[in-house]
Amino acid sequence: MNVIFLGPPGAGKGTQAQLLQQREGIPQISTGDILRAAMAAQTPLGRRAKAYVDRGDLVPDDVMIEIVKERIGQPDARRGFVLDGFPRTLGQARALDEVLTSAGRRIDVVVYFDIPDDVIVRRLTGRRVCRAAAHIYHIEFSPPRAAGRCDVDGSELFQRDDDQEETVRRRLVVYHQQTEPLVEFYRRRGVFEVLRDGDIEAVYRQLLEIIKTRAGQG
Ligand code: AMP
Repeated sequence: MNVIFLGPPGAGKGTQAQLLQQREGIPQISTGDILRAAMAAQTPLGRRAKAYVDRGDLVPDDVMIEIVKERIGQPDARRGFVLDGFPRTLGQARALDEVLTSAGRRIDVVVYFDIPDDVIVRRLTGRRVCRAAAHIYHIEFSPPRAAGRCDVDGSELFQRDDDQEETVRRRLVVYHQQTEPLVEFYRRRGVFEVLRDGDIEAVYRQLLEIIKTRAGQG
């Protein structure tokens, strides 16, 4: 299954992609995680991306397209993947089509996380992430068992710089301007599914149902 998660930052895409990876073995490809790892290691990519990420702006399409092209060609992604945070512009979506078509592959389903802005701000400003593997928590809605420590690997939890309220608001503006047009782009193709919001397990059940139904058709 080749799956795209579409929706604003903080909609739950990363949380659900991690569950799908853990429980179904479908690899999560999070372009945000890839950029943050490159920034932490101060690679040339990380240095180039930092200014954009810190402002809440998008990293240029050519950079992102190269990253994803390389990543979906790796062995673990040959059987399928969940793209979490890509594509984010029409240019990225068209480039993804080209890459997949030339490899004889296609997108099976685009899952849309439709969450209002006021909910997003509450979720993102309370979000915490683990240093070791980017496992996701929320100080109020999904706290770890021991304060400040990851349940899975015990590493320290921290707040992403771009989860500060001012940057969150900027990311939402960018989302509405540049990413929301993808809703119409994919809706026209008959691969589009909308998730109703709910708690983590309720959303996961819907997601699994969608993926199993689509897999049965494929
Ligand atoms: P995320 O973790 O998906 O919220 O991504 C964090 C930040 O990384 C975004 O605010 C962007 O600055 C950058 N980023 C991640 N994915 C993309 C993408 N597909 N295109 C452009 N920038 C991206």
